[in-house]
Amino acid sequence: MPESLSVELQASGIRPTRQRVLLLGLIRQGGARHLSAEQLYREVGQQGLRLSLATVYNALNLFSGAGLLRRVDVGERTWFCSNPDDHHHMFDEATSELTDIPASSLRLEGTPDLPDGTEHVRTDVIVRVRKFKL
Ligand SMILES: [Zn+2]
Repeated sequence: MPESLSVELQASGIRPTRQRVLLLGLIRQGGARHLSAEQLYREVGQQGLRLSLATVYNALNLFSGAGLLRRVDVGERTWFCSNPDDHHHMFDEATSELTDIPASSLRLEGTPDLPDGTEHVRTDVIVRVRKFKL
């Protein structure tokens, strides 16, 4: 497994240091999920490993910059989503819970005129919910 993670990092243009391979492995172990830097940092600690929060944060930014994770800024936090499938997000404003919704569950019509010299990369939708107040 570390071997294939190493290859994956290299294919994404990231030098596969031992720490990066280890962090990507931890992220992948949890399947498709949303992680904050603090959460991953705690998991690192639970494995008995010692990395700084800055190292964890830098790796997450590096991974998301290379397209291995998707960065989602919502609420007061930054999440890193490991679900590689095309999807949007639903955010519960009361609990701060972030969940995936399949791209196929939303129908978007029309796209804005793009500035000259640009191409459409992706549209991210965040559907915000909260419980009714009775
Ligand atoms: Zn997601």
